[in-house]
Amino acid sequence: MNTFYMDHAATTPMREVAAATWMEYAQSLNPASQYGSGRRARSVADSAREEIAQLLGCEPIEVIFTASGTEADNIAVQGLFQSSKLNRVVSTAIEHPAVLETVKSLGANGADVDLLPIGADGRVSSFDLLEQPAAVAAMMWANNETGAIQPVPEFIAAAQASGTPTHIDAVQVVGHLPVNFSELGVTTLAASAHKFGGPRGVGLLLAKRSPAPSAVLHGGGQERGIRPGTLDVAGAAATAAALREAVGEMDAEAQRLRALKAELLDGILAQVDNVMVHTTEPSLPGHLHLSFPGAEGDSLIMLLDSMRIEASTGSACSNGVNRASHVLLAMGIAEADARGAIRFTLGRNTTEESIKAVLGVIADVVSRARTAGMAF
Ligand code: PLP
Repeated sequence: MNTFYMDHAATTPMREVAAATWMEYAQSLNPASQYGSGRRARSVADSAREEIAQLLGCEPIEVIFTASGTEADNIAVQGLFQSSKLNRVVSTAIEHPAVLETVKSLGANGADVDLLPIGADGRVSSFDLLEQPAAVAAMMWANNETGAIQPVPEFIAAAQASGTPTHIDAVQVVGHLPVNFSELGVTTLAASAHKFGGPRGVGLLLAKRSPAPSAVLHGGGQERGIRPGTLDVAGAAATAAALREAVGEMDAEAQRLRALKAELLDGILAQVDNVMVHTTEPSLPGHLHLSFPGAEGDSLIMLLDSMRIEASTGSACSNGVNRASHVLLAMGIAEADARGAIRFTLGRNTTEESIKAVLGVIADVVSRARTAGMAF
């Protein structure tokens, strides 16, 4: 019996080309060493950096390898804050915890924190708070739960008008939609290899030369001193290989996924009453976030899992406890309805068969979850 994996926004299977590249360079030694094997490792890392820079529209020196998207977000937000004389941070209420918790921890240590308001469509609805300068303004390009693409050009223009450095969390976007760092004009941008078929445990921070984030970790001078630590050469090479393939097939894949997503949504709406659709357009090609009021998200996930369909509630890091998502609450969704949320994220191994598998069981699953009711 097949398993239908529909949680590609959580992580997506590693591409063959990435796994093969990783294996090829797994024995690489320290790229900072001056002898032959060090120089060979260095040249592999340099090629990976150059390729990533070319694919994302930046200079090789602006590419900083980290160990996760979370680390890239932390370095950007904390590091830009530290490098500024200002004591103010602006972000949004729908950020991934990698940004939101970082911003909150700055607030707990005395920074003035302002969160931009969110509309019912899941997008930032006003940039007035950016009229006053801040040490850093951080916003996601697309939301990991709803897939809603945020008004990035407006955000950047508003921040630039007050001279505020900007960080964009593009973890859900890189490898899925075109990204050109220099045309965008942001100060820093975060990405994560495992979201586009690279290895887990490799993040990317694109950082302009100036203003550059101050170091958050201290150590040797690797990665411009912004992210010290011995570089994972195999991980860097595998990330470049995955990104090359992802960018190469991006347009065709986006079109394919949008068609499958439309089929999934239409099929669900045709069979199930009282469905709330949280994904509004423009959205990421593979994201479909819904609530089935009266059902617990956890029940829906467990019932689907028993039928080998793997989806999630979409809210990050809930440690297995179903809490209403902060994203849906920020959109004005009632707590009980938010708890009935489920996120399908389609990706490379999603086919017509996957959609049919969901549509074949969804009415029964929702009805059983609704009969079980809410936990309290
Ligand atoms: N930012 C967003 C929008 C994400 O979706 C995620 C992961 O889900 C992260 C940051 C964190 O990335 P990583 O898992 O590489 O730490």
